[in-house]
Amino acid sequence: MGKILDGASIATEIKKEVAEEVKLLAEKGIRPGLAAVLVGNVAASEIYVRSKVKTCAELGLFSEMLTPPESITTAEMLALVTALNAREDIDGILLQLPLPAHVDAKLLLDAVSPEKDVDGFHPVNAGRLQAGRPALAPCTPAGVIEILKRSGIPIAGQRAVIVGRSDIVGKPAAMLLLHENATITICHSKTRDLAAVTREADILIAAIGRPGFITPEMVKPGATVIDVGINRITDRAEFEKFFAGDAKREETFSKRGSTIVGDVHPKAFEVAGAYTPVPGGVGPLTIAMLMSNTVRAARMRRGL
Ligand code: NDP
Repeated sequence: MGKILDGASIATEIKKEVAEEVKLLAEKGIRPGLAAVLVGNVAASEIYVRSKVKTCAELGLFSEMLTPPESITTAEMLALVTALNAREDIDGILLQLPLPAHVDAKLLLDAVSPEKDVDGFHPVNAGRLQAGRPALAPCTPAGVIEILKRSGIPIAGQRAVIVGRSDIVGKPAAMLLLHENATITICHSKTRDLAAVTREADILIAAIGRPGFITPEMVKPGATVIDVGINRITDRAEFEKFFAGDAKREETFSKRGSTIVGDVHPKAFEVAGAYTPVPGGVGPLTIAMLMSNTVRAARMRRGL
């Protein structure tokens, strides 16, 4: 069994550092502020946004939660984003995804001022990231890099294979790893003989959105495996496929009727040299990096 890379502890460490920075900024009369926009009543999104707002309070950041109704139009959302762009007390704006289907999500994400784009989704930030300029990088892949670095996993010269090419995870993860001097390969649903490619990885990043997709034979023995996936499973047969014989998981599953599995099959972790568990691996880093990005945005906007 590989070594567990403890994302939860790393996230705690980063949040402590952010709180220290917030204190230093307070001495200059600056309080970084985050505006979180949650449209409609999506239960999962509400849980995410509430925990982001709660973490702001814990670390001393200002935060505001805006909750327009599901019926909001693109024009009204645009007016809301424009107002937030102009506010001096707001350094970071996050539009919790998914937005309702009837609003133009791309137009709205592009309307967020790149200086306040703490999710790192704006094309200007994507371009800056690619060009190796100072940028607000997407939180989840930025968190992956923190896990690797703070766990002492070498990146330079390593062969990194990323499965998934989304703008939120796969692509920015590849760019960040490239800037750390890894040799990168990006795989996707059209990749031929995927297992042959993933088996070459010293660092394998799974960001696919399919439960347990990466199986043991797809992992080079001793590789570092980073599992970004978060998949809720409720089906007993599927549960057995991944967790048969795991008493702790059995307890959670029996109690809640569901459990979370990553994009990597738990058996594949046995082949790895080190790996991020799900839950408790990459997940906790996302909020920590959002806090870090908000403080960074506050500093950058003031030329500090
Ligand atoms: P997307 O659905 O946007 O992208 C999935 C990617 O996986 C696509 O590039 C797709 O390829 C690729 N893919 C799908 N099927 C296959 C296949 N059979 N073989 C190879 N590649 C395949 O997902 P996200 O990037 O948004 O998220 C990925 C996972 O990470 C999800 O489980 C999500 O829940 C999780 N996540 C976790 C976060 C966290 O905080 N830990 C934050 C964000 C996401 P193609 O482009 O060809 O379709």
